[in-house]
Amino acid sequence: MHEQNQKENSAASPSYKPIASDCVKAEARRLGFALCGMAPAEPVDARYVDAYRRWLDEGRQADMHYLENHFEKRMDPRLLVEGTRTVISLAFNYFPERVADGIAWYAQGRDYHDLLRERMSQLMDAIGLHGRCFVDTAPVPERYWAWRCGLGWIGKHSQLVVPHVGSTFFLGELFVQEEMDAYDSPMSNHCGRCSKCIDACPMGAITEPQLLEGGVLGPESHCFDSRRCLSYLTIENRGDIPAEAKAMMSDTFYGCDRCTKACPHLHGTPTAEPQFRPSQELLSMTPTDWQQLTPEQYQSLFKGSAVKRAKYDGLMRNIKSRFSSDG
Ligand code: SF4
Ligand code: SF4
Repeated sequence: MHEQNQKENSAASPSYKPIASDCVKAEARRLGFALCGMAPAEPVDARYVDAYRRWLDEGRQADMHYLENHFEKRMDPRLLVEGTRTVISLAFNYFPERVADGIAWYAQGRDYHDLLRERMSQLMDAIGLHGRCFVDTAPVPERYWAWRCGLGWIGKHSQLVVPHVGSTFFLGELFVQEEMDAYDSPMSNHCGRCSKCIDACPMGAITEPQLLEGGVLGPESHCFDSRRCLSYLTIENRGDIPAEAKAMMSDTFYGCDRCTKACPHLHGTPTAEPQFRPSQELLSMTPTDWQQLTPEQYQSLFKGSAVKRAKYDGLMRNIKSRFSSDG
């Protein structure tokens, strides 16, 4: 994920009186967040740190080298933002009602970064919190903090799983100077013997994880190999799409949701945020339209969309790879 644009709350002096966590959660709900949890700003669990380091050492981050940067700060919120006492994790539902073929669910509507940052700033202002908000904008292990703040657990497919709802959430974090009057507990992992996401992955990008000692984190994200994942190969990857991946693209040319869709916990309700819904223009695209897409049409179709991350050339590479696999 991209790491830029840190946004800072401009309010001046911090208050050291504990904040009512229920008030923060109620305001988060009012602002459209489906879930909100909080944890003391402590170093990341040592087992997670070790697993993450191993994952990097094995090269499973592919060429997303920004994931290697600022390791110490990534693993301690107080080093990333001095004076942080609380981490607040927020989740915004993007479960789609209607879907344009070929494009990952999360990218059907407008890019989520600005909207989430704006809502998180509003939350800080409404409560009087002092600190910073992050949406893929700094070395913050967002799924770890979502787990640590009690929102769900990290499934075998490496995404946050919210029980009986699934993984269709954008995540954001607040690092704030205030303490809360109550904190949330991490959720136990309930993947158990399920392997539906592993079985659904056409690329073998997910392997059965080792249970960590104590089972507190349980299976977590580091059994996932970006180098084999269609999401990585069609979004972050700037090189060619390997032949093996081309043959597996079948229903997608931007991202992949097969492991998300396979999870028995997926029972989302459609997002209430109109900005995250696909436009009629996008919904009406046909395979022929995609293959004949011009740069001008691309600009119009994806104005303000996360699909811009692949750029026109990258998207056309994907489209050609996808349709060439039809033989
Ligand atoms: S997004 Fe697709 S390719 Fe990547 S791990 Fe999930 S199922 Fe496999
Ligand atoms: S499909 Fe099964 S193993 Fe995979 S994340 Fe969901 S519950 Fe866990």
